[in-house]
Amino acid sequence: MPCASWGGLPKRMILTAGEPGARLTHRLLAWFSENSRSLPWRFTSDPYAIVVAEFMLHQTRVSTVLAYYDRFLQRFPSWEALARSSLDDVLKSWEGMGYYARARNLHRLARQVSDPYRGQLPQSKEALRALPGIGEYTAGAILSMVFGQDEPAIDGNVRRVLSRLFALTADPGTHPGRRQILQAARSLLPPGQAGTFNQALMDLGALICTPRHPACPACPWVENCLARQRGLQDELPIRSPSRPLPHYDVAAAVIWREGKILIAQRPPSGLLGGLWEFPGGKRLADESLKDCAAREVREELLIEIEVGPLLARIDHAYTHFRITLHAFTCRYEGGEPRAIGCTAWRWVRPEKLDQYAFPAANRRIIDQLRQCETGPADQAWMPDRIGQE
Ligand code: SF4
Repeated sequence: MPCASWGGLPKRMILTAGEPGARLTHRLLAWFSENSRSLPWRFTSDPYAIVVAEFMLHQTRVSTVLAYYDRFLQRFPSWEALARSSLDDVLKSWEGMGYYARARNLHRLARQVSDPYRGQLPQSKEALRALPGIGEYTAGAILSMVFGQDEPAIDGNVRRVLSRLFALTADPGTHPGRRQILQAARSLLPPGQAGTFNQALMDLGALICTPRHPACPACPWVENCLARQRGLQDELPIRSPSRPLPHYDVAAAVIWREGKILIAQRPPSGLLGGLWEFPGGKRLADESLKDCAAREVREELLIEIEVGPLLARIDHAYTHFRITLHAFTCRYEGGEPRAIGCTAWRWVRPEKLDQYAFPAANRRIIDQLRQCETGPADQAWMPDRIGQE
């Protein structure tokens, strides 16, 4: 019986594993054997290399991960090598990929796996979920792809494909929506082949069942897909209307002293934790941007500065808010820096800035700084470096 007839069945029956589910799975796996993406983490059985890939792939496109993955493994080839490295080194290797909590968690994970587990990951979901950075998806990916257990691994691609295949109308971001997706995934999971099945679902979502304009005629499930039958493929999955992101003005100080620039390291946890930056922060109501820069530097490092001309204005979006970062060229006035609102500070020559991991918006300040090095605009503010004081 073709699975198209599922459209008339109650949802609880649709989501029950059975012969139709096995046929669907068979079609997907046959499609995958001909069309799978050639990705480096699929050619290894090393759990460490697979876990690194899963951490990187969380929230990041495959094309971006490909630019980092091999280099990261060369730099940190094992749990032990990663555990022995400093967080600064790990963040530097992660610089530009964003979502730095993943790098911090991977580093913590390496230290935990290297110690009580002696380089071996635990094989139960409960023990995995108790480790840093391992949520439901990553636990499912590790259990199915590393240990061959019959566990689904549900990422954004999988949510989209299953929402459409079963025409699920609950928002997959809600508890009922997540439960439906999980039930749908389990109903299709072929015993003993969960790792391959999970990757096949991800590839179908990435290559065919794309967020916009899915290529249904090329889909192995085109005859079975309820969204396709109902013309809902562009409407599903249901998304809650997104609220506009709040916007903040942020001032940053590029402080010069004797040819060096002051940089500060952010606290180890929280947004961009452990990265280096030009000190600064969010503007208060009724505060000028220059006053904001001077106040933030005073609060963060207990030094006084003179705030000079604007060096760069950068718009940047984070997941939950947007900022405009106003970077000023500043001159050190007095006080011995102390790490009050930061973890550490350094006076660094401009050519050495690349040795530190900076967030993307600060990296653009450095680009601007380099463009200005030969220009006249800020020379009065860089006397030590150009020998004119
Ligand atoms: S038929 Fe179209 S909407 Fe349905 S799963 Fe395939 S690509 Fe997605």
